[in-house]
Amino acid sequence: MAFKYTPLEDLQSGYAELRKSFQDKKTLPLKFRRAQLLQLARLFQENSHDLAAALHADLGRHKLEIFMPEIGPIVTAAVQAAENLEEWNKPEKPAVEEWRSSWDTTIYTCPKGIVLIIGPWNYPYGITMLPFIGAIAAGCTVIIKPSEFNPTCAQLLADLFPKYLDSSVYRIVNGAVAETTALLELKWNHIFFTGSGHVGRIVAAAAAKNVTPITLELGSKSPVFIDAANTDVDLAAKRILWGKMQNGGQVCVAPDFILVPRAHQDNVVEAFKKAYQKFWPHPKGALDPLSELGGILNPHHHARLTALLGRTEGNIVHGGNTEEYRRIEPTVVKDVRLDDSLMEDELFGPIIPLVPIEGVDEAIQIIRGGPVPLVIYVFTDSEETKNKFVESTSSGTLVLNDTFTQVGVHEMPFGGSGDSGYGSYLGKFSFNNFVNRRSFINVPPSFEPFLGYRYPPYSEEAFQA
Ligand code: NAD
Repeated sequence: MAFKYTPLEDLQSGYAELRKSFQDKKTLPLKFRRAQLLQLARLFQENSHDLAAALHADLGRHKLEIFMPEIGPIVTAAVQAAENLEEWNKPEKPAVEEWRSSWDTTIYTCPKGIVLIIGPWNYPYGITMLPFIGAIAAGCTVIIKPSEFNPTCAQLLADLFPKYLDSSVYRIVNGAVAETTALLELKWNHIFFTGSGHVGRIVAAAAAKNVTPITLELGSKSPVFIDAANTDVDLAAKRILWGKMQNGGQVCVAPDFILVPRAHQDNVVEAFKKAYQKFWPHPKGALDPLSELGGILNPHHHARLTALLGRTEGNIVHGGNTEEYRRIEPTVVKDVRLDDSLMEDELFGPIIPLVPIEGVDEAIQIIRGGPVPLVIYVFTDSEETKNKFVESTSSGTLVLNDTFTQVGVHEMPFGGSGDSGYGSYLGKFSFNNFVNRRSFINVPPSFEPFLGYRYPPYSEEAFQA
């Protein structure tokens, strides 16, 4: 199964076909959308083992970490969207002032048109399909551009799509920068981008030329505060290590660094060691081939992470071993300062820096001094600490006492804020990206007797009334 980039001429003709399908109202009937949503669920159900094998080939990820956050939620979300289609697309009748009650005032939910979804490599199915489900439910035609760094997954999706879905309305386009640049030159009715802040800015600039609305789901250096005097430190370490090690630490919502009261730093280190022993009890620990720890994407990222570890002025108190290629042991570094190499950028790997601080107020001050993160994690049983974070910080999500789990709650919007992006998705929030709320007003001719006051010549009496 060789990985093929979509030729530029096919990209143009595919786009033209999808635009025509939208104009021909192919995606307008809810019956059509429902059938396509169920077909998408079928695609992921019937091919789940091949899809998991492809992801394992590209990223070396364990199958539990594929079925739990990606394949299972896609099937569920597609079926739920099919069940909610009528409700989501229902015209709304807003309450209006009494004197306008004889007018027809309706808000219609209209598909935006032809939309583009661009995905990153770290969650090649979930991050493209969960917005895609919203776009199908909304009645849009869709091109999806998966990351070229998941060649096996991207090719499998390109092969499976035409077997399950109507290719005159939904297409996979494969390629790298040249193909994405060509796509961005076309006029879209919405662009949904997930990836780095650097490329997000390129996408936003291209979209601005056509006044195209966009959703930007970007990266983040998401902080953790352990309120060690008011929480179960062992439980906190276990939940942080689990969330951090999903996909080898290459997760947009990975707990990036930990702010911990100085007096408790060593307790936290011990708690991480205990959690590590429970998760990877083999003699060779997490580097054992049997551990199936998520692999680092490629030699470039492996070299980037090992160089960061080489430059850190903190103390490596656990881990630090690396394989030539693919894996880095979960590594805990203590006494990390804010100007350390590990604090420069989003880590996107299995390194846990501990930054010792005085307490909650300093944690909040540090977080407020940096870019707005995608998520802030706080481990505490204290109502006061919780309230301080609610009132004094900003982020896409605020999670208490767990990590990573928020992306499974589809009843809430998931997205960034400020530097970590704008717009959101999951469940109905995915759908909202791809519809226009169109206000419709009909002022009936029979209402004319009540409108006399507004016409010239203007009179002082009308103004008095
Ligand atoms: P990336 O920005 O390098 O690539 C994303 C997509 O953009 C890919 O499809 C790629 O082909 C395309 N692209 C790359 N360079 C381009 C260019 N010059 N012009 C046009 N298109 C271009 O991101 P990545 O390395 O694939 O993913 C990792 C990043 O994504 C991390 O920062 C991570 O935090 C972020 N991310 C965010 C979320 C979220 O929900 N906020 C989720 C997952 C990943």
